[in-house]
Amino acid sequence: MRDKIAAPAGMLAELTHRCPLGCPYCSNPIELEKAAGELDTATWKRVLSEAAAAGVLHVHLSGGEPCVRRDIVELTAHCAEAGLYSNLITSGVGLTRDLFEALVAAGLDHIQLSIQDAEATSADRIAGYEGAFARKREVAAWTTAAGLPLTVNAVMHRANVSRAGRMVELAVLLGARRIEVAHTQYYGWAMVNRAALMPSREETETAVAEVEALRKKHEGRIVIDHVVPDYHARFPKACMNGWGRRTLNVTPSGRILPCHAAAMIPGLEFWSVMEHSLAEAWYDSPAFNIFRGTEWMKEPCRSCDRREIDFGGCRCQALALTGDARNADPICHLSPDHAIAQEIAAQQAPDVAPDYVYRRMKTKA
Ligand code: SF4
Ligand code: SF4
Repeated sequence: MRDKIAAPAGMLAELTHRCPLGCPYCSNPIELEKAAGELDTATWKRVLSEAAAAGVLHVHLSGGEPCVRRDIVELTAHCAEAGLYSNLITSGVGLTRDLFEALVAAGLDHIQLSIQDAEATSADRIAGYEGAFARKREVAAWTTAAGLPLTVNAVMHRANVSRAGRMVELAVLLGARRIEVAHTQYYGWAMVNRAALMPSREETETAVAEVEALRKKHEGRIVIDHVVPDYHARFPKACMNGWGRRTLNVTPSGRILPCHAAAMIPGLEFWSVMEHSLAEAWYDSPAFNIFRGTEWMKEPCRSCDRREIDFGGCRCQALALTGDARNADPICHLSPDHAIAQEIAAQQAPDVAPDYVYRRMKTKA
């Protein structure tokens, strides 16, 4: 079995779920893990070494906000020692100038900075944190001045979709080499806030066209990765590039997951770094093997020509919309449940400022 499975290339290290921001589309689980349950420094260092030994090349130091960890510099230095390419995924809030310089000195390779909008007032409202937008601009300036590659993350939804193009232009202005324009994926906190976040088909199509036009305009200057909105699509995305094919995720308390949202699927058995090595979990754990390949598929995926292109779409979305994680992702027009996705996509949200359930440790979602 092991010889048929490629080694993992990337690892998302969710160092903590603590975060000063409260983005209503946050991909962290609804049940946020508390600080008391987080892995200690020595364990994270062991996990990073195990990742390198298992073949991982890129580590995304993420959260929550990874800079709230007091050992973030030590962990970054350990990535460098282990030969791992380190990418800090940060909100920018919590990153001081001194900490930034210490991270660069420790060998940090890359910064990925989220922006919530191209306008400060709206951006801060979406983040649920006043002053966040200004702080992000500052962090972007430090990053480019230090010669570190910068990627901007921009999650699109109803409150900012009309400024999709301006967010790309902002990323260019900030000196980013890459921008990920990702339309909201509806699970976790985004599912709770779906009615407030979902843009109309017209808004979505305008934004997609605008971003594609900017791709041509800025060719050679910035790379635009565009995750298109799946609720308005005919085929689903190849979620995680296929379950257990390229990347793994370690949660703050050390659970090893095939994707950051997988914990929502009931009945899956997740191994912990306290009991198993990363390699053992990657090759042998039930949670990684259950949806690997195509054997697990039901019709219409089982006999579909695209089964090794999109792997049946997103398991978490199949569960959330149909109640069964083994079903075809209902975004697919071939799915017998496609009408569910169409009906949701057609719902027009009222034209008022959206009322969010912010992602906070104490929020009851
Ligand atoms: S999406 Fe927002 S709330 Fe969630 S971890 Fe990132 S910055 Fe924090
Ligand atoms: S039927 Fe399944 S494999 Fe085929 S396109 Fe739809 S989701 Fe993908």
